[in-house]
Amino acid sequence: MNWSEVSVVLTTVLYMVSAVLFIRGIKLLGKADTARRGNLMSSVGMLIAVVTVLLEKKVTDTITNTPLKNAYLWALAAIVLGGAIGAVWAKKVEMTGMPQLVALFNGFGGLSSLLVALTQYMTDGSINVFSSVALGLTIAIGAIAFTGSVVAWGKLSGKMFKKNITIPAKNAINACLAIVGLVGVLLYALSIADVAGKTVGDVGIIVTCVAYLLLGFTMVVAIGGGDMPVIISLLNAFSGLAAAFAGLAMSNSVLVVSGCLVGTSGLILTLIMCKAMNRKLTALLFSSFGASAKKGAAGEQKEPKSMSVEDAYLILEAASSVVFIPGYGMAVAQAQHAVKELCDKLEENGAEVSFAIHPVAGRMPGHMNVLLAEANVPYEQLKTADEMNPQMPNTDVAIVIGANDVVNPSAINDETSPLYGMPIINAFEARTVFVLKRGKGTGFSGVENPLFTNDNTVMIYGDAKQTVSSLVSEFDEG
Ligand code: NDP
Repeated sequence: MNWSEVSVVLTTVLYMVSAVLFIRGIKLLGKADTARRGNLMSSVGMLIAVVTVLLEKKVTDTITNTPLKNAYLWALAAIVLGGAIGAVWAKKVEMTGMPQLVALFNGFGGLSSLLVALTQYMTDGSINVFSSVALGLTIAIGAIAFTGSVVAWGKLSGKMFKKNITIPAKNAINACLAIVGLVGVLLYALSIADVAGKTVGDVGIIVTCVAYLLLGFTMVVAIGGGDMPVIISLLNAFSGLAAAFAGLAMSNSVLVVSGCLVGTSGLILTLIMCKAMNRKLTALLFSSFGASAKKGAAGEQKEPKSMSVEDAYLILEAASSVVFIPGYGMAVAQAQHAVKELCDKLEENGAEVSFAIHPVAGRMPGHMNVLLAEANVPYEQLKTADEMNPQMPNTDVAIVIGANDVVNPSAINDETSPLYGMPIINAFEARTVFVLKRGKGTGFSGVENPLFTNDNTVMIYGDAKQTVSSLVSEFDEG
């Protein structure tokens, strides 16, 4: 065996080791107590993959070249720069900023696949028809993931597209963009197969790139706030698929494996989200479903009743069953530790306490579970909507902490509501409902919530952490 054969075997083995570390890492990420180890394992897998790629592509052979022609220096500069920006950003980000950061990272994943494909297109003259199709699809899917994720970032951070936008003839526009982009891929493949000239191929690549960048925008901008979780998971899947196609275009097996892992886990999450929200993916993508937020019907403008913390304490003190329903506002207020304290006080007082967790509460999958785990709320106390809803009519007090859309009864009884069809936590069925929020603001979907004006609902206005801490103090003094 000569050295080049040995290096091929070594590269394959190292790629396999990386793939095994990725798969094992994902498995460990599935449980809170092994998640850190899983993250570390996947990171080591990625490091091995990156070093192997640098060696395989003989980037290091350019080590004696001048700085500008030294691919090793370029790679090193990119790793140091990207690593430093990522580390500072991740350190600085508030927990409430995580969802939009994750959305942006998805977009960067798509953008990097797009750029890798464009570089491959500009530099590799020996590409075959199969690789050219894979390369075209990398550009297409990477472009959608990029602009779609930037729009998702804008919506989640509240910096852009706060108002729901309806695009007239959205389906027709999206279909045209998708077809035009695919024609671009075809033109490029034909130029590679020598059926068309190079200029035709160049035009094809530019057309695909522009059409799918626009498609990512038009596809996501028209999705209503309440339906964003599904589209975010789908964009995550797209960023993985783009990487997998980039791997096929460049014949890089580890990129195919890692891309497929991200792509399939994103698709599985998308299907779980669709099921949790009772949505069909096709309906979401091809109609303006959920896009238009509707204000409450005229004439129904009842004012919500409010209550002081002192009076609320008296009701809680007498309660024998209490259900906490946390939402995004709990994350904003960072109220989870105070909530755990109140939970302990209620239990000491003899009440049975549970937490009803909606799958899309907060701004990212598992958002509430993560916060409550951080506050040491036992996992067994966290119940799903299916587990809790049958018990709601027998619950003395439901405490809604910064949740809004996930307890909105219009999702059940108002067919014209953008939220209609989404399963909710049936807080309205509890004997008494406390809603802890700062004012009369709507939730992420922008839809008014009739729960707040129900006869059995009282609002306790203020920052959730302050309100819950005041309730804890009342128990201490009482
Ligand atoms: P919502 O966004 O519906 O409501 C949050 C409420 O919290 C607001 O009405 C706000 O009212 C209140 N609030 C904000 N800050 C505070 C504070 N400091 N103290 C007390 N209350 C506060 O949250 P939900 O969790 O009910 O629903 C999640 C929504 O986000 C759904 O529409 C979901 O589809 C969407 N989404 C979810 C994702 C996920 O993966 N989980 C991803 C993307 C979107 P006020 O301003 O009056 O205080």
